[in-house]
Amino acid sequence: MKSNSTKILIRFDDISTHMNWDVWDKILLILKKHQVKPILAVIPKNEDKSLLKFAKIDDDIFWLKIKEYQSNGFGIAIHGYNHVYTTGDSGLLKFNKRSEFAGVDKKTQDLKIKNSINIFKKNSLNTNLFIAPAHSFDYITLDILKENGIQYISDGFFKSPKRYNTLSVIPQMHWSFKSIHGEIATICFHHNNWGDNELSVFEKNLKKYSKQIIDFEKIQMMKFNDIGVKDIIQLLFFQLRFKIFGYLKKIFS
Ligand SMILES: [Zn+2]
Repeated sequence: MKSNSTKILIRFDDISTHMNWDVWDKILLILKKHQVKPILAVIPKNEDKSLLKFAKIDDDIFWLKIKEYQSNGFGIAIHGYNHVYTTGDSGLLKFNKRSEFAGVDKKTQDLKIKNSINIFKKNSLNTNLFIAPAHSFDYITLDILKENGIQYISDGFFKSPKRYNTLSVIPQMHWSFKSIHGEIATICFHHNNWGDNELSVFEKNLKKYSKQIIDFEKIQMMKFNDIGVKDIIQLLFFQLRFKIFGYLKKIFS
């Protein structure tokens, strides 16, 4: 498949009360200007020390903003519960050796998901989308998501939308506009340390790829095929590629 036919979904992670709001406000203006509706990985109860160092806004104001984003067509995802890593388990994707979910017992995982959904509901927000912190989750997480009515996850090293059990898997394996390929590519951004350069590169790319960018609503209309043997082989290939790339980065940095 030619890369210029790849559909692109923009995703921003670690959206929470504590974040770089100055940069975020600039990103919102860029998104509005180019009519791009990303998916947002929203942390229901941020207790991650590495994120708490950023400026905080009032909880009620935060949730009103999230509601506004949702009514503007942004996809709103539950991004874990508190974003605190309690295990060194890399889960099914074997990407990061840290997790809020993988390796955690079923009762605790279930409580986390229920608490997250309740916080969303308390703030009049419904969601059917889940994004695991650090890309780390296990089969128990997938069962619990299903049991709690979540239909979509944004993760997995696949080239097209996939189905696992009753869950729809929107693949995610890009962190920039470089080497986009496949039927769909979700590009994941973390904006907290962005400066003017990142903002201008982001805007340039939104312009360049404007015809390919789609939103969560359109993704839901795509065909999700069951994960097959070919997909598993592809997943293993990408895992190996990411691992080799990680080693090389360590050696040369
Ligand atoms: Zn995160």
